[in-house]
Amino acid sequence: MVHGGAGALDNVRDNKTALRYLESIRTIVEHGRNVMELGGSALQAVEACASLLEDDPVFNAGCGSVLNENGKVELDAAIMDGRDLSAGAVAAVGNIANPVQLARLVMTKSEHVMLISEGAMRFADHCGMERVPEDYFYTPDRVEQLHQARLRHKVMLDHDDSDDDSEDQKYGTIGAIARDPEGNLAAATSTGGIVNKRMGRVGDSPIVGAGVYADNETCAVSATGFGEDFMRTVISKTISDFMLMKGMDANQATEAGIAYLTRKLRGRGGVIVIDQHGNCASGFTTKKMIHGWIEKGGETHCSF
Ligand code: ASP
Repeated sequence: MVHGGAGALDNVRDNKTALRYLESIRTIVEHGRNVMELGGSALQAVEACASLLEDDPVFNAGCGSVLNENGKVELDAAIMDGRDLSAGAVAAVGNIANPVQLARLVMTKSEHVMLISEGAMRFADHCGMERVPEDYFYTPDRVEQLHQARLRHKVMLDHDDSDDDSEDQKYGTIGAIARDPEGNLAAATSTGGIVNKRMGRVGDSPIVGAGVYADNETCAVSATGFGEDFMRTVISKTISDFMLMKGMDANQATEAGIAYLTRKLRGRGGVIVIDQHGNCASGFTTKKMIHGWIEKGGETHCSF
């Protein structure tokens, strides 16, 4: 399963842009299938899918990320392997085209789970990862979006759908989760965060248990939405716990997780979930969430 952010795509529905989102989601989820058909693991599949989503400028991750209060990108990403709960994350990094790949290196080549900012960049240099110039990330849409947020004196989801008069209802943050034929689960989430965020703000996406989680005993989860709500409800681990402690399947646990998010905080966003048996589920409190999935090797589905 992959997602391209929770929110509404109403104002671009039925035009070329909407089709672009869908086409990208479909192509990328099918790429994930190919990776695993060729013998790749769930971990390889989610890293490959998340990288492709980061490369597509329509999504709020990697190239095309939203801008912070200083007009800069600060990127967060994480990846987790359900086989042994190993995880890697980076936060507030710039100049890295694929933060999810840096997160994977943190997981495999360091003794840590998370590196941030300058320390993460030094680690990237140490690993020989190429730095890209800042203008690699900028798109005219993102500059305009920051301008609008500043005018309204607010921070916004890339795809904010809370205001009826919202002009900007695009999708954003990306995530990929997979279960491979061996039954291994993996999850990855990557984002530019929220528009006009404070410098140094880190959201849920790189936080294990909040924006990302994978455990072979339960499920793989990737979240999207207002990170502060997801950190406070530890939403991804909460969904996993519903399975572990209450024996729920993907649909039941997702429904229970979304109900908890709503009851406690009226939290805004959504999740994609695959359980240990390969059942796929999604849930969101925004109008929509763009996502695609292939359940148990079946047909490709997309929804937005
Ligand atoms: N969850 C992300 C964050 O708060 C934003 C999003 O999903 O669009 O950084």
